[in-house]
Amino acid sequence: MVVAVYPGSFDPITLGHLDVARRAASIFDQVVVAIYDRPLKNLLFSAQQRAALVREAVADLPNVRVDTYSELTTSYARRVGAKVIVRGLRAATDFENEFQMAHINHRLLPSVQVVCLMANQEHTFLSSSAVKEIAALGGPISDMVPPVVERALRAVYLERKGQ
Ligand code: ADP
Repeated sequence: MVVAVYPGSFDPITLGHLDVARRAASIFDQVVVAIYDRPLKNLLFSAQQRAALVREAVADLPNVRVDTYSELTTSYARRVGAKVIVRGLRAATDFENEFQMAHINHRLLPSVQVVCLMANQEHTFLSSSAVKEIAALGGPISDMVPPVVERALRAVYLERKGQ
């Protein structure tokens, strides 16, 4: 059985992430969407909130499960018996980072293979940070995120507006 880990911040999950998870699920026996607890980023949602949103978004994918982790991605992959790390590539700008990270991960855990899936054309410009910025300004995001994420973003920014 081939287990693949799809690691990331997912703050929050977008339709671009979801498309990568769905496609990975059609290739590998089991996919673990692994939410990195403490990225060096300004987060909007806690790890538990991000996990709950991903869980709802992937509920129709029986071979996908969701987890959080706070160690090295390679240590996590080893712990869950994953042979593959899945990442998504949007544009050349992603490539440099992913290329470097793939080599580092390979050095840390030579038995793991990094598989990058090309973003779907319609998701090429989609990022969690762009979605948060649009939502914060009250713009439309329904074609960028799953409905559960749209509701969560609206609730956060409505609450902030009221404060
Ligand atoms: P990280 O902080 O690890 O980059 P992200 O949540 O931003 O975590 O992204 C996780 C992975 O999903 C990365 O490989 C990223 O390139 C990929 N990804 C992000 N947005 C999209 C998208 N719109 N389409 C395809 N892949 C994407």
